[in-house]
Amino acid sequence: MNVIRKAYRSWQANPLFQKTWSWPSLCRVCHAWATQTVCAACLSAAPKPLHRCARCAMPLAASPPTALLQSAFMREPSVCIACLLSPPPWQRCCAALPYAPPWSGLISAYKYQGEAGLVRFLALQMKAHEDIQQLIAQADLLLPVPLSAQRLQQRGFNQSLLLARALSPRQTLPDALLRLRDTPSQAGLPREERLHNLTHAMACNPRYLSTLLGQRVVLVDDVLTTGSTLRACTEALRSAGVSSVDCIVLARATGHEPPQSTLGH
Ligand SMILES: [Zn+2]
Ligand SMILES: [Zn+2]
Repeated sequence: MNVIRKAYRSWQANPLFQKTWSWPSLCRVCHAWATQTVCAACLSAAPKPLHRCARCAMPLAASPPTALLQSAFMREPSVCIACLLSPPPWQRCCAALPYAPPWSGLISAYKYQGEAGLVRFLALQMKAHEDIQQLIAQADLLLPVPLSAQRLQQRGFNQSLLLARALSPRQTLPDALLRLRDTPSQAGLPREERLHNLTHAMACNPRYLSTLLGQRVVLVDDVLTTGSTLRACTEALRSAGVSSVDCIVLARATGHEPPQSTLGH
């Protein structure tokens, strides 16, 4: 039985399988037969949405540590200490999932093992999030974080573009942002080097400057770690005169995950 299940799992990962929606699927976590992408039992056992900072999507501590910060929290109750002290350039950021098992394994399969068909299931996790629905409803445009030409050629698809199209094809503008140079992979770099790595790496496509002017923009990314990529995109968009920038991401990493290749574009 295990041999059949194993053979079926490798067929399930085949791109041809992903074009044939009528095949029964195995749960991607427990490998039970005849279920959805992730079965109900695994979904209920997965980490639940946390109360997160409205600016950076980090999990919020139950209570702030000092009286001074307590008063700041009273004014802005959903913002973490780091964002109070040094706000990010965007306005709001929402994450659908924590970057933790089983989600991290599914995202890794989606990005690094060519399983683009997982986008439907992953986008559903984003659509189920009330704050993400609200940001999309208020936006004029959804802009995916771009990949370099070299990375795009290696992978064959931009994971953020597929997510944006699955969320709202009508609002998605695929190539309004350009990655000017192929920066070294963000994976494994210390925070300071990640921030420096992307300085001046993003720009707005000159073809879309008039389209972007005055627009409410939502950036779409797969995994948020330090925020350096979203920061570089936001700064390029602000220079182009957009009216606001918010961010929606599939998963939020805390920076304490074990070093692995799943973080980074
Ligand atoms: Zn399962
Ligand atoms: Zn924050």
